[in-house]
Amino acid sequence: MFDTIISGATIVNAAGNVRGNVAIRGGRVAAILPPADLAEARTIVDANGCHLLPGLVDVHAHLREPGLTHKEDFDSGTRAAALGGVTTVLDMPTDDPWTATADQLAAKMETAKGRIHVDVGFQAVISRNTDLLRGLVDLRPVSLELFTADVPEAFMFESMDAVAEMVKWLDGREMLIGISPGDQSILAGSGSRNPAGDIAAFLQSRPPLAEASGLARAVLAAAGTKVSIHVRQVNSALGVSAWRRLRDMADATIETTPQNFFFTSADYERLGAGLKGSPPFRAPSDVEALRAALSEGLIDIVGTDHAPHSPAEKATSYTAFADIPGGMPGLQTLLATMLRLIEEDVINFNDLVRMSSFNPARRFGLGRSKGAIAVGCDADILVVDRRRTSEITDAQQVSRAAYTPFAGWIIPGTLTRVFLRGEEIVHDGKLVSERRGSVVTRES
Ligand SMILES: [Zn+2]
Repeated sequence: MFDTIISGATIVNAAGNVRGNVAIRGGRVAAILPPADLAEARTIVDANGCHLLPGLVDVHAHLREPGLTHKEDFDSGTRAAALGGVTTVLDMPTDDPWTATADQLAAKMETAKGRIHVDVGFQAVISRNTDLLRGLVDLRPVSLELFTADVPEAFMFESMDAVAEMVKWLDGREMLIGISPGDQSILAGSGSRNPAGDIAAFLQSRPPLAEASGLARAVLAAAGTKVSIHVRQVNSALGVSAWRRLRDMADATIETTPQNFFFTSADYERLGAGLKGSPPFRAPSDVEALRAALSEGLIDIVGTDHAPHSPAEKATSYTAFADIPGGMPGLQTLLATMLRLIEEDVINFNDLVRMSSFNPARRFGLGRSKGAIAVGCDADILVVDRRRTSEITDAQQVSRAAYTPFAGWIIPGTLTRVFLRGEEIVHDGKLVSERRGSVVTRES
C-alpha cells in the first residue's frame, strides 16, 4: 500500500521521459510503475495528459532574513517559491549581517525552521578571517561564497593572489565555492569614467570585461586543484566566450538567470527601476550569444538571483540610475520563464529539468534526495498541464517586491499541483498546506 500514486502522466527527468505512475511512500518516491499498473494507495492523483517534473532547485535566491525583512522574509520568499514550483531554495548569505560565522549560520537555520513553505539550504560567505571557516563547514552549508568585487571590505577578495590563496586553503575540503565574477581593478576605472548618473553611465560602469576577467581568474585559480567552483551570473558574450575556452581547466560550473535570455539594456527605458540589477542587461548580441550557449549545453544551471526590494525602495527617486537598489524577484516565475524558452525552441523539457533541478541538486550536495523523480528521492513533484496556457500578473506575486518584470506574459502551460516530500502544497495556484519545508544541508 502506497500513500499516494500520481497516475497517467509523462515523467520528465534530465535524462529523458517515461510514461508511468509515480508511487510515493513516506515522502519519497517508492516506485515508478508501468501505466497499466494500478497499485493500491490511500490517494490516487489523476494526472492524465500532464507532465511530472522534479521540483525545481534554485541555487541563487536572497530571502533577506535576517535584517532586511522589509524586502522579503522566509515566509514570503518560500511562499513565492512554492507557487512557482521551486521546492528547494538555496539562500545567499548577503543579509544583515552577512552569514559569515557558525553562530550566524546556525541562527539562520534555526529561524527558518517551522516558517518555510519549501525546503531551504543555506550558503555562507567566505570572509578574510579564515578562522571562521572551520565552524561554518561543520554546519554543512550547500556552498561557500567568494566575492571578488563590489562587496564590503571584510568579504572582498580583490587581487588574483587573494583568490588563489583562498582556493588553495579550501583544496581537499569537499566544499563547493560559489564565485560571483567581477574584477574590482576594472570596476574602479570604469565606474569613475562617466559621471552622468544615467542608464548609459551605469552600463559603462559594469563592462563585460569585468565579468569575463572575474570568470577567468576564478577558473585559473581553481585549475590544478581539487576545488569545485561554481561561477555565478554570466550574461555577456565576452563572458560566454571566456567560459567556452576555459571551463575544462578546472572542476567548474556556470549559472545564469532567465531574465538574461529576454531583456536587453534597451528595456531599462521602458521598465526602469524594476529591471535594475547587477550585472546589467546587455546588447541583443549578448543575449544571442547566451541563448546559443544555452542551446549548446554550455550553461550548467539556470537560477533566479531572486533579489527583492520593497516597492518603496524601488519607487524612491534617485539622483543616479546606479543608486537604485539592484535586483528583482524571480522565484515565482522560474518555471514559467523556462517554459517560454521551450516554446521558443531554445531548450527542451529535459534541458529545463537538467539546468533548474538536476544539476543544481547534484552540484550543491543534494543529489541523493533532490533533482530527479527516481526511487529513493524526495517526492518533490510538479504537475504541469501543457494544454492550458497561463498568464503572469503582478497581482499573483506574493514576494514582498509585489511585481514581476514578466507581467503580462502568456505561458504555454500551467503548474496545477506541487508536491513537497509527497505532500500536496500547491493546488491550482493556491498554497494548500503551509510551512512544510525543512532546512537541508550538504550531503556527506
Ligand atoms: Zn545574487
